[in-house]
Amino acid sequence: MKTIAVFCGSSEGASSIYKESAIKLGQELARRQITLIYGGANVGLMGAVADAALEQGGQVIGILPTFLQNREIAHTGLTELMMVESMHERKAKMAEMADGFIALPGGPGTMEEYFEIFTWGQLGLHKKPCGFLNINQYFDPIVSMFDMMEREQFMQPKYRSMVITDHTAEGILEQFSSYVAPSVKTYLTDQRT
Ligand code: AMP
Repeated sequence: MKTIAVFCGSSEGASSIYKESAIKLGQELARRQITLIYGGANVGLMGAVADAALEQGGQVIGILPTFLQNREIAHTGLTELMMVESMHERKAKMAEMADGFIALPGGPGTMEEYFEIFTWGQLGLHKKPCGFLNINQYFDPIVSMFDMMEREQFMQPKYRSMVITDHTAEGILEQFSSYVAPSVKTYLTDQRT
């Protein structure tokens, strides 16, 4: 894997464990010479993961919509900062440039980014792994929701394997290296296989 997109909070969260984990992820990406692709901001966990990768000599590419430049405070020390026109362009670029996607704890923006890329995988638009770095059990309610979706037959069991979770950066990257995408979703002929 050469590039990983990280979705994470523009806030730091209530506990220092979130920032510490963002730092560990940034360091681990740099150590493995994986380029970090992220939202380009200098705030919250976004700033923390980028700074940590850069401090370890890693490559970091930020993708920031112009209208967010001041609100999210553009990171000025990145390997490259790509300015785009819209959120849609930002997400499309991240999807295109990354070989895999990791969500760290965050708010609605993080969730939106994760779910969009997850559903694109389910639709067969890409075959890249998407994972939750489950710090402080933050993503447990979402994992339970996926269990509910499967149990209540709103998600086919074969897509459950797309929900990758791990407590450590090393663990999630190891899971990514052996990831095989399920076959493409079809509605008429592919039910419950
Ligand atoms: P948050 O997790 O809410 O702190 O947001 C994290 C990142 O997601 C920030 O870079 C936000 O700009 C971005 N974001 C917020 N809303 C959306 C959205 N509707 N679509 C895509 N990204 C978003």
